Amino acid sequence: MTKTEKLKQIAGRVAKCTRCSLYKRANNPVPGDGSPDAEVMFIGEGPGYHEDQQGLPFVGAAGKLLDNLLQSIKLERKEVFVGNIIKHRPPGNRDPLPEEIKACRPFLDEQIQIIEPKIIVTLGRFSMNKFLPNEKISLIHGQARYVDFFGKRYIVIPMYHPAAALRSDRIMAEIKEDFQKIKRFLEKAPEEEITEKIAVEKEDKQMKLIQ
Ligand code: URA
Repeated sequence: MTKTEKLKQIAGRVAKCTRCSLYKRANNPVPGDGSPDAEVMFIGEGPGYHEDQQGLPFVGAAGKLLDNLLQSIKLERKEVFVGNIIKHRPPGNRDPLPEEIKACRPFLDEQIQIIEPKIIVTLGRFSMNKFLPNEKISLIHGQARYVDFFGKRYIVIPMYHPAAALRSDRIMAEIKEDFQKIKRFLEKAPEEEITEKIAVEKEDKQMKLIQ
């Protein structure tokens, strides 16, 4: 199976998923979208109104900002992969619940292992918590870390969620600056800029059971 076929298969499973109750009120599943060969993978929180309407990630106001930020580092949306922690819209855009995040986890884990991006950019705290639990986004945004995940090493760069940047000039300035780091790391991974190495061993074991 090609990477494209494998990603399609996951999208099919997401569309039929009943592992939590979010599917009941959602209009469309939002499995994620982009290049199967992406060097950079962005992980947001979950679909909002527009994403739920279209079945595509980051197509509303936050998505427009994401496109502009990508443009600032000469990347196009079709070159990267954009996914979310949860694949169905939580009612009223509420925060995802721990059991929803857990139920949805295998899909994203498999997407990461299929795409094997060089860099994972987490957008917002729920996405950051997947790799860097107990951290505070205000303290570590823009800092790159090596994370060992399912036997492969990724560079994970946590960033603020674009929706937060739309509400705050300070966060907007910070996310713009943080994005420049993606460009530098794509050209070369400057060891001195990597903050620390982390292995997500515990999560690995749990996830193996789910697969
Ligand atoms: N916010 C997210 O976290 N994900 C989307 O897909 C859209 C908005």
